[in-house]
Amino acid sequence: MNFHEYQAKELFASYGIPVPEGKVARTPEEAVISAQSLGGNMWVVKAQVHAGGRGKAGGVKLVRTLDEVRAETNHMLNMKISTYQTGGLSLPVDSVLIAEAIDIESELYLSALIDRVNRCVTFMGSAAGGVDIEQVAATEPEKIVTVKVDNTVGFQAYQGRQMGFGMGLSAKHVKQMTKIMSALYRLFIDKDLSLLEVNPLIIDGDDNLVALDAKINMDDNALFRHPALAAMRDEAQEDPTEATASRHGLNYITLDGNIACMVNGAGLAMATMDVVKLNGGEPANFLDVGGGTNAERVKEAFKIILSGEHVEAILVNIFGGIVRCDLIAEGIIAAVEEVGVNVPVVVRLEGTLVDEGRQLLADSGLAIISASDLNDAAKKAVAAANNNGVAQ
Ligand code: GDP
Ligand code: MN
Repeated sequence: MNFHEYQAKELFASYGIPVPEGKVARTPEEAVISAQSLGGNMWVVKAQVHAGGRGKAGGVKLVRTLDEVRAETNHMLNMKISTYQTGGLSLPVDSVLIAEAIDIESELYLSALIDRVNRCVTFMGSAAGGVDIEQVAATEPEKIVTVKVDNTVGFQAYQGRQMGFGMGLSAKHVKQMTKIMSALYRLFIDKDLSLLEVNPLIIDGDDNLVALDAKINMDDNALFRHPALAAMRDEAQEDPTEATASRHGLNYITLDGNIACMVNGAGLAMATMDVVKLNGGEPANFLDVGGGTNAERVKEAFKIILSGEHVEAILVNIFGGIVRCDLIAEGIIAAVEEVGVNVPVVVRLEGTLVDEGRQLLADSGLAIISASDLNDAAKKAVAAANNNGVAQ
């Protein structure tokens, strides 16, 4: 799950990490009141969307008068933001963060993530922070300092010095960096985060480190033990199809291809996508309907995959281990009848009560293409999709 910058900064502040003072606003009037209560004569208006790259997309603006606060907020609340981080989606701006504007001496980069190769939390930092960090990572990787934290002992002060001196910071800033990293590490572990990014972490006009931006990502599997964080979820920022799927207990990810896949079990779903690719096709989605699925879920799953724009064929690959193939067949038939599927549907069923399931499909009178095994199914689905909706 992703969080907004203002939510991440609240968490940062509660761990003692310095952040600029700010307030979230949902209307231009609220924004003006926020700016007044913050005081000063310069503010930054920041669109709250679940993506970085806002600065370049017009979602971060410095303003000098209350009229500008109102006008800029009004403008942003009517924007949809799409950046290289939004994965093709345009995100609505339902709130803005009004923050005191800070003088920036320099922009650094600091992040922490789950490092699966080294099985630990790894920090990455660079003195070349700011909006072009991806460019730095691609062309000057030597400017990025990496520090791996041993899970058994946790973050150690010497690692802060490694990072700080590695980035070329002064002794004073290295001390501040160590404190910040130590707090970030506690936050990361306490809240089951999977990613945390501060870009930029700045040296301000008073020569202190401040987190000017904050981005965190939390492991969905841990949401149940963090009800306060789960309540921060903003579904308006999520792929609508993925959000609907998660409400129905379906594991769904939108992809670019044209062959929709409906599979039970994550491993089988991955294998299905591989075999589709091996046969020259491109999956339109990843969909795991779950091990103990039923007719109702199969129907919901059909509705979801059909809402995809580029679907030219559907490949159903079900292994009846816990589930019964006859119930799956009933679900498919009900879905095709109710939803009105207008693309070819290739079905491969195997396992418990498979004969009954196949019989039901054969007797249904629907134009369902049945397949004998996974490879056969993938071939047929690719051919059907290539024929652009003409069933074989
Ligand atoms: P992002 O583009 O979505 O990552 O948004 P950021 O919060 O990182 O802001 C983008 C850029 O705007 C930063 O790198 C800063 O250069 C600038 N910026 C943001 N807040 C302030 C501020 O308070 N003062 C100044 N001078 N610049 C700011
Ligand atoms: Mn940023």
